[in-house]
Amino acid sequence: MSALLKNSAFDPSAIVDAVRSVLPETRPLPLHEPEFIGREWEYVKDCIDTGWVSSVGSYVDRFEALCAEATGTRFGIACVNGTAALHIALVAAGVQRDDEVLVQALTFVASANAVHHAGAVPHFVDSEHETLGLDPDALDAYLGEIAESRDGATYNRRTGRRISAVVPMHVFGHPVRMDRLVEVAERWHLDLVEDAAESLGSTRNGRLMGSCGKLAAVSFNGNKTITTGGGGAVVTDDEALAKRLKHLTTTAKLPHRWAFDHDEVGYNYRLPNLNAALGCAQFEMLPQFLAEKRVLAERYRTALAHLPDAQFFGQPEGCESNYWLNVVMVPDRAAREALLEALNADGIQARPCWTPMHELSFNSDCPQASLTVTEELVDRIVNLPSSPKLGRGI
Ligand SMILES: *Cc1c(COP(=O)(O)O)cnc(C)c1O
Repeated sequence: MSALLKNSAFDPSAIVDAVRSVLPETRPLPLHEPEFIGREWEYVKDCIDTGWVSSVGSYVDRFEALCAEATGTRFGIACVNGTAALHIALVAAGVQRDDEVLVQALTFVASANAVHHAGAVPHFVDSEHETLGLDPDALDAYLGEIAESRDGATYNRRTGRRISAVVPMHVFGHPVRMDRLVEVAERWHLDLVEDAAESLGSTRNGRLMGSCGKLAAVSFNGNKTITTGGGGAVVTDDEALAKRLKHLTTTAKLPHRWAFDHDEVGYNYRLPNLNAALGCAQFEMLPQFLAEKRVLAERYRTALAHLPDAQFFGQPEGCESNYWLNVVMVPDRAAREALLEALNADGIQARPCWTPMHELSFNSDCPQASLTVTEELVDRIVNLPSSPKLGRGI
């Protein structure tokens, strides 16, 4: 890591100039724009022309297969959004009311909300500098301090609650050290549910994100790498879980030609065929978008190299990141604010990282590990415009 001078007078102008040199002159420049330059119109029109607009249709089936393919898994279950996908993945994994679920504090609110929706308690853990995501070694050491294993389950000795799952999130598309996390999760009898909402197409040691845990959730919100307008999916290799997920997300209806029977309280988490049609066309663009996003990241990296107060966050070793949102790190929170001010004043939409989960009022009673790395990263991260077309120079 380069030596960044803390508390020195920070002048954002050199960074602003470098960022400008990468971007077109059009303003405003959004952080991440959806783009429809493939067969989107054709497929959506087909839904309208045929009347198959709602929760059943051939595009849903195609979309689910594409979700599985893009994450290196066998089964995809389309959902109405990524938060619903993560919620239902936790339920299917067996997370029970009043369990604790380990979630990194450095994430979008959906990761923790999904745990609350399942009636469980998020338990916040720290990130590491190398990936921005969950630190598996710190987690292992922390569980050694606060947890005990009994009868094939792990309990928090301080709260008495069972700790049943861990939810790593690949921040801005950069893969968590999943091989190590798989070991830690096994050692502590934790179900591994990936929040792969930001990491479609990212790999570590050639392995696609979404394929490392028992289950993973992906998102197709409007600001993600590809979009269905709003949407998500659960992916898994486990056929029994896939069947269970399809059942749970479709009101737990028993298949019958006319009868409406349901065998439990299910969810209406289905993705409409209209949205799936948009998604099928977007999937056709994914390879191109990923390539363009990597070109853009490389341009930022080059333009920001050698600036003493800026550090471009490059993909972790052994990884190919999708660079969902590009990151420049500055020395401290004051510098972050100065840079955000300067970029936004120029119509370049730059953003800080999320308020970390443990600082949100409704999470104040949740247990937490030491979160010093999270807090440092939050102070220093600035996200830069990252739409695929910017890598095409438009
Ligand atoms: C986008 C996102 C989600 C899912 O969001 P939806 O808007 O519900 O699709 C979940 N987790 C993370 C980390 C995300 O960035």
